[in-house]
Amino acid sequence: MNKIDKIYEGKAKILYTTQDPDLLIQYFKDDATAFNAAKKGTIHEKGIMNNRIAAKIFEYLAGCGIPTHFERQLSDREMLIKKVSIVPLEVIVRNRAAGTLCRLLGLAEGAALACPTLEFCYKNDALGDPLVNEYHIRALGLATDEEMTKISGLALSINGHLQAFFRKLNIELIDFKLEFGRAKGDIILADEISPDTCRLWELGTGEKLDKDRFRRDLGNIEEAYQEVLRRVSA
Ligand code: UDP
Repeated sequence: MNKIDKIYEGKAKILYTTQDPDLLIQYFKDDATAFNAAKKGTIHEKGIMNNRIAAKIFEYLAGCGIPTHFERQLSDREMLIKKVSIVPLEVIVRNRAAGTLCRLLGLAEGAALACPTLEFCYKNDALGDPLVNEYHIRALGLATDEEMTKISGLALSINGHLQAFFRKLNIELIDFKLEFGRAKGDIILADEISPDTCRLWELGTGEKLDKDRFRRDLGNIEEAYQEVLRRVSA
């Protein structure tokens, strides 16, 4: 399978068409951004690490019965994926308070939540990906009610599977972001799941093994991604 045309370049990934109209190649870059791209940098070999980590996680979720866009890993930085039409929502699942939720609700970082919490943000860079509710989603026609029922059910189910997956690796899944796509009339998991899109804290110590090390200049960024890769590959 070869890359033909570049059809999209985002902050961390590039998408290319292939000979098969139903399949794309997703290429992982080393570029990192934070705070709606106000902070930019690169993380050495992040693309290689995230490609492998995301592949492992997609394989695991597929084994749990979650429909995903992942087909197979092609090379260090490339995976073959199903072509989807992305639902323009970032679906955030939270198990503890962190990041924007702390600022929104005045919670301490790491504060317990009585139940897993779902948030939806409208994918729109110019607006800074604003938080939206189900009425906004319906009013703007971003997704149908039926799609939102599927997306919410899948997001919560993925959370349960991933919490168990990471717990076995001595990691607590604090929060993460998902994107879903429409493919042949169905909703499937798309994009990536990696330390770029999750908050992962070492169980016991709370040491951060994710992009917060880049966001907050905590150092040992590559080492944290390597450590997650090492554990998911073990
Ligand atoms: N997240 C992401 N992409 C985004 C925004 C958030 O992958 O554009 C992830 C982020 O890494 C974290 C979770 O979603 O694991 C919740 O992020 P939050 O809303 O707290 O925003 P942040 O503080 O990361 O800006």
